[in-house]
Amino acid sequence: LIPAPEALEILKEGNRRFVAGESAELHRTHKLVDNQTPFAIVLGCSDSRVPPEIIFDQGVGDMFVIRIAGNIVTPLELGSVEFAAIKFGPRLVVVLGHSCCGAVQATVETLASGLTAETADLSAGMKTIVKHIGVSVELDGADATDQLGEIVESTVEKNVRHSVRSIRTGSSVLEGLIADEGLMVVGAKYDLATGRVEFIDCD
Ligand SMILES: [Zn+2]
Repeated sequence: LIPAPEALEILKEGNRRFVAGESAELHRTHKLVDNQTPFAIVLGCSDSRVPPEIIFDQGVGDMFVIRIAGNIVTPLELGSVEFAAIKFGPRLVVVLGHSCCGAVQATVETLASGLTAETADLSAGMKTIVKHIGVSVELDGADATDQLGEIVESTVEKNVRHSVRSIRTGSSVLEGLIADEGLMVVGAKYDLATGRVEFIDCD
């Protein structure tokens, strides 16, 4: 069992290798048939440019990864985190957002146009995503396109914090693991331009 602070260091070091072009683990082959012992759970966005195993330079079996557009937390993601935390014992949960997130951008644009998740012409599934990201959008009366870019970036961070809070407080199982077993839930933002992951203080 790897304690959360140590798990965090492994991810930081892996991202450092990735940024430096020194990725080491990608070609490692594992045959994990009977068991897995991932040391971290990552809830990330589905964006094709943000594959958690690659940007943290980790191999097969190292991380339990949940990906959904906009790294939101619905009961399904919460259940997946609970399942992994109980079944495999990782002590670190990372919510991973990223710059230029299309899901966040679509949500900001929808709300800036005066629509809501309910009134927007979207499928039920997409309304759910807009609704979850929408709680983190603060438009401050902004409507100019050049302001929306900044709002998207600040929303990415607020949305990560919101998902971290949802995981920390949305499950009595996880609250118990946090209180008694050293489970840590942290937020992070991946920068598409630099490849760097910045961990966000989420208190
Ligand atoms: Zn995204």
